[in-house]
Amino acid sequence: MSTTHKAHCLILPYPLQGHSNPMLQFSKRLQSKGVKITIAPTKSFLKTMKELPTPVSIEAISDGYDDGGLDEAGSYAVYITRFKEVGLDTLSQLIQKLRNCGCPVNCIVYDPILSWAVEVAKKFGLVSAAFFTQNCTVDNIYYHVDKGVIKLPPTQVDEEILLPGLSCTIETSDVPSFVSTPESDILVEMLVNQFSNLQKADWILINSFYELEKEVIDWMANIYPMKTIGPTIPSMYLDKRLPDDKEYGMSLFKPMANECLNWLNRQPISSVVYVSFGSMAKLEAEQMEELAWGLKNSNKNFLWVVRSTEEPKLPKNFLDELASEKGLVVSWCPQLQVLEHKSIGCFLTHCGWNSTLEAISLGVPMVTMPQWSDQPTNTKLVQDVWEMGIKAKQDEKGIVRREVIEECIKLVMEEEKGNVIRGNAKKWKELARNAMDEGGSSDKNIEEFVSKLMTIS
Ligand code: UDP
Repeated sequence: MSTTHKAHCLILPYPLQGHSNPMLQFSKRLQSKGVKITIAPTKSFLKTMKELPTPVSIEAISDGYDDGGLDEAGSYAVYITRFKEVGLDTLSQLIQKLRNCGCPVNCIVYDPILSWAVEVAKKFGLVSAAFFTQNCTVDNIYYHVDKGVIKLPPTQVDEEILLPGLSCTIETSDVPSFVSTPESDILVEMLVNQFSNLQKADWILINSFYELEKEVIDWMANIYPMKTIGPTIPSMYLDKRLPDDKEYGMSLFKPMANECLNWLNRQPISSVVYVSFGSMAKLEAEQMEELAWGLKNSNKNFLWVVRSTEEPKLPKNFLDELASEKGLVVSWCPQLQVLEHKSIGCFLTHCGWNSTLEAISLGVPMVTMPQWSDQPTNTKLVQDVWEMGIKAKQDEKGIVRREVIEECIKLVMEEEKGNVIRGNAKKWKELARNAMDEGGSSDKNIEEFVSKLMTIS
């Protein structure tokens, strides 16, 4: 181990953009407190990255599919099984290699989807820390699926689900889509499996903050000693700039940074709707068309991220005619810089947890259009608990129509009711900052984690 570091964490993310981003940011924070970091992405994930993280070290491991990862495996079921078989070995080899070269690891921080990592930690006598990339409410729901309290799949569409610890009543439509849709067996199994082996982990870390989810965090704490350490967004956006800190720095897509920022610089304050559906969601062509017209009819300026694979679904002539006056469409943007920009007035989002937490941390009110996974639950919280956004409702065909989109944007950006939402956005931004400030709820938990690591090393 280098003489300047008392502790060395090996970080094992699940190979998805939304799972690796928060783990990388958490790593940087640990690093700023004197912990050495080595990130262990899969070889195939590393190959697809357009932006590599600095200043952490990277040592890739094999998931058994070094060329194409999940795509090469063909299904989640095959992929997850093989990743476990191969990962157990390749992770062990990496730990041994780091020992041999005088740079031993003393802790593994792992995504609990890869719950087998705790076995590797035990084998080598290392500290283990499960890092949940979803919020505590979503974890509570998966926990209750695991315990059989929520039956799969729920029978009625609008059935009320009563769960202890939640700060609101939820219905079937608010639970993660993998729970409510019968055909997602393997995905639900994968997420419920996050709780297998969890009692063996020395630490359970959650990318959320106490003030945001008090009731559920307190309730879950009776079962697992969960510690909130978020929001894990880079400290520079929380006015606590760390040396070498910059945008996320671990991206599968190349952001069109100059184009976005130059364009935003020309727009009036709070005038722009920023639209993004994250790294994975695929909208139907009909939905894209409704969204395009909703944006156009709202008469607001808009910056819309349409990944290149989604671009063919844009209505014909949209880019040349409809978007040219008021809008900019890009294939990927530096989202944090965008959300932080003074011209942004609203975020039309799929409500992925990272995007939601980023909007909370930067005080941007939301219009939500959840697609799948935990997005319906995040939406429920944004609208009914944190009251900093509004859900654009689908029709019976599952499409959000242009009038609804237009109306929601106007409500959030202009109307009286929007005042409350905009006021709450400011309040949550403040609370997120406080949580990460010195002595704040998340900062204290991170300090405790680091100081324990330092004493055992
Ligand atoms: N993101 C980005 N540029 C974009 C769109 C998204 O940097 O143009 C980042 C965003 O800041 C977030 C992540 O990609 O950190 C998306 O994660 P999220 O959990 O919101 O959604 P997912 O991609 O997992 O569906």
